Amino acid sequence: MHDVLIIGGGMAGLTAGIYARRAGLDVLLFEKMFIGGQIATTYSVENYPGFDEPITGHELAMKIEKHARKFGLEILYDEVIGLKLDGKIKKVITENKEYETKAIILAMGAQPKTLGLEKEDNFRGRGVSYCATCDGAFYRDKRVAVVGGGDTAAEDALFLAQYVNKVHLIHRRNELRSYKLLQRKVLENKKIEIHWDSVVNEIIGETEVTGVRISNIQSGDSNVIEVDGVFVAIGIQPNSSIVTDSIVTDEAGFVVADECMRTNLPGVFVAGDLRKKPMWQIITAASDGAIATLAAQRYIIEEFE
Ligand code: NAP
Repeated sequence: MHDVLIIGGGMAGLTAGIYARRAGLDVLLFEKMFIGGQIATTYSVENYPGFDEPITGHELAMKIEKHARKFGLEILYDEVIGLKLDGKIKKVITENKEYETKAIILAMGAQPKTLGLEKEDNFRGRGVSYCATCDGAFYRDKRVAVVGGGDTAAEDALFLAQYVNKVHLIHRRNELRSYKLLQRKVLENKKIEIHWDSVVNEIIGETEVTGVRISNIQSGDSNVIEVDGVFVAIGIQPNSSIVTDSIVTDEAGFVVADECMRTNLPGVFVAGDLRKKPMWQIITAASDGAIATLAAQRYIIEEFE
C-alpha cells in the first residue's frame, strides 16, 4: 500500500509530489496525458517568482518535472477510471490495475469551457481551438477571432498577433477582466481589434471555418466577421466527473475544501485548478500542492501510526 497517490501531473500534483518525496513518503503520481497540465499550453509565464525573464509554460513544466524526479517521484502515465474513497484504505483504479493508498490528492485540474455553438464541435481542431499556443502557428498570415475577456483571452490575442494578420477579440462586456499590464499590451497592439459588448452567435463555414456571426448585446446589431480560425478562451471547467458522486463540489463542479485542502472525506485532499477558490494561478496551484501534502502527511501520522 502507498502512503499517497496523486491524480494529475500539473503544477499542483507535481508540487505535492516534490513535498511528498522530500518527506520520505511512498508516493505515486498518475498522469493521463502530458506533464504540466494547463501550464504546458501556456505561451509565456511572467508572474512566477524567481523567473525574472519570461519562461514558456512548456519549459517551466519540464523544469518542475525534473525537480520532482530528482527527489525520486514516480510518475505513471495511466488514466484513472475510478476511485474508491469512502473506506480508510482508498483505491485508485486504472484500466489494468487497482492501487491502495492511505491518502489521496486530487489534482486533475481543469479544461477550457466551450461556447456551446452548433458547429463548434465539428470544427474542433480544424478551425476551432482552445489552445492558442498549441495551434497558433497554423494561422500564420491569416485572420482569427479570440473569444473572451480574461487573462487567457488577452494572452492568446497577443500570442496570435505575432503570427496572424488580424486578431478580432470578441468580448461580451465593455472592459477586459485581465490584469492591467496585459490590458495595456492588448489595447496598444495594432493587429488586435476589440469588439466590445459582443457575443458569438454562430460559427460559419461548410468544410472549414470562414467566419463568425457576432451580435452587439447593447444595440442588437449583428454582423459577420471573416476569420479562418476561432480561439475560445472563456474560462475553465473542472475535471471532477470521477469524484462528483462522493466529494462535495460547488455548482460548477469545483471541489470544496478547507484551508488545509481537506475535502469532505477524511484522507482525500484536493489541490490546484480543480479546487473551488477565488484565483486559479500557477503559484496558487503550487501552494495548494504543498499544503495538501503537508496535511496528508499529518493525517497519515494521526490515522496510521
Ligand atoms: P476567466 O478569468 O474566467 O475569464 C473568462 C472570460 O470569458 C471573461 O471575460 C468572461 O466574461 C468570458 N466568458 C465566460 N463565459 C462566456 C461565454 N459563455 N461567452 C462569452 N464570454 C464568456 O477565465 P480565463 O481567462 O481562462 O482565466 C482562468 C483563470 O486562470 C483565472 O483565474 C486567470 O486569472 C488565470 N490565468 C492567469 C494567467 C496569468 O496570471 N498570466 C493567465 C491565464 C489564466 P465576463 O468578463 O463577462 O465574466
